[in-house]
Amino acid sequence: MTTNNIERLQQRLGLSRREFLKFCTGVAATMGLSTEAALAMAETVADQAANRKKRPPVIWLHGQECTGPSETLLRSEHPTLERLLLDMISLDYHQTLDCGAGHQVEHMKDASMAANKGKYLLVIEGSIPTKDGGIYCKIADKTMLQHTIEAAEHAAAIVAFGSCASWGGVQSVGINPTEARGAQEILKDKLVVNIPGCPPNPYNFLATVMHFVTFGNLPELDDQNRPKFAYGRLIHENCERRPHFDAGRFAMEFGDEGHQQGWCLYKLGCKGPETYANCPAVEFNDIGGGTWPVGVGHPCFGCAEDGVGFTKPLFSLADVKTHTPPNEFPLIDQREGSASASPGASALAGAVVGAAVGAGAMAAKKMGTDSDNSDQG
Ligand code: SF4
Repeated sequence: MTTNNIERLQQRLGLSRREFLKFCTGVAATMGLSTEAALAMAETVADQAANRKKRPPVIWLHGQECTGPSETLLRSEHPTLERLLLDMISLDYHQTLDCGAGHQVEHMKDASMAANKGKYLLVIEGSIPTKDGGIYCKIADKTMLQHTIEAAEHAAAIVAFGSCASWGGVQSVGINPTEARGAQEILKDKLVVNIPGCPPNPYNFLATVMHFVTFGNLPELDDQNRPKFAYGRLIHENCERRPHFDAGRFAMEFGDEGHQQGWCLYKLGCKGPETYANCPAVEFNDIGGGTWPVGVGHPCFGCAEDGVGFTKPLFSLADVKTHTPPNEFPLIDQREGSASASPGASALAGAVVGAAVGAGAMAAKKMGTDSDNSDQG
């Protein structure tokens, strides 16, 4: 990276060179990539910020949704992800961020897609209604269904950002009056990368785009086409309340003693045990120092998991994919060897592996925080 490139980045992102490299290393580490990959990503972003490399065009469509995915991207800080993103890509069309309107922006979209066949990234936000020919969501006199099929035809890659675009989201559950669908159901012959969540984590989107822009391909995906780096583990595995789950300490009502003490929210309907996402590790609002629902006392809603979020009522208990806690635990102030401790002993022994995994993850996170702090010194 040249000094000019770094200075430009400092100005735009409000980051020092060190902070920027640290951020890229964090992104690479999240995806399980090497330091060399981090440097390659940093190099690519810096080059694109300095206009030394052509930025890939992005066409961003909105269907049925609340604009939460765009909002979550725009509201993040340190670094401001939207600036970082806008330094890497050319956002040629975004229905809520475009300055222009009407025929002008539609012309821009058509021109960009025609000039960049096979090179642009298509991002879809929101579900796509299919009932009655898709008339329940129209933009510029075309249905979202038409927009989606047209834009997907020559896209280099397609990303469904948010649960609505990934699998239909809240619009698709229950009676589904508009027959809302996720992008993959419409584009059956295309690969659609799903980044679900309500809202989805902007960091996961940014990491996926950085990977695509730097290496020209997508990160490894799971069987639901979700990036494995972000959806490879259950929330329950990395949750900071996991030691309470393993010890049988549960909040039973909102505001009760256990809730105030930060105990496990399983009995309040937390869906962390059956939802795959990296929310506890990455958090929201401010990467590494932000917050997430369980962290502030709200049970995980399972928004990132098809068949859980918006489908299972909040009050229902999650299927515990690791192990099911017994109904009876030893009291927490009873010592080892106490006769009354025996009913839960085998369950607790069975939880050791899970606890070790959870503790290891939390220790790693804590080490990261500590080293972050020491770096500032
Ligand atoms: S049940 Fe929920 S609150 Fe409890 S440890 Fe699992 S993810 Fe965390």
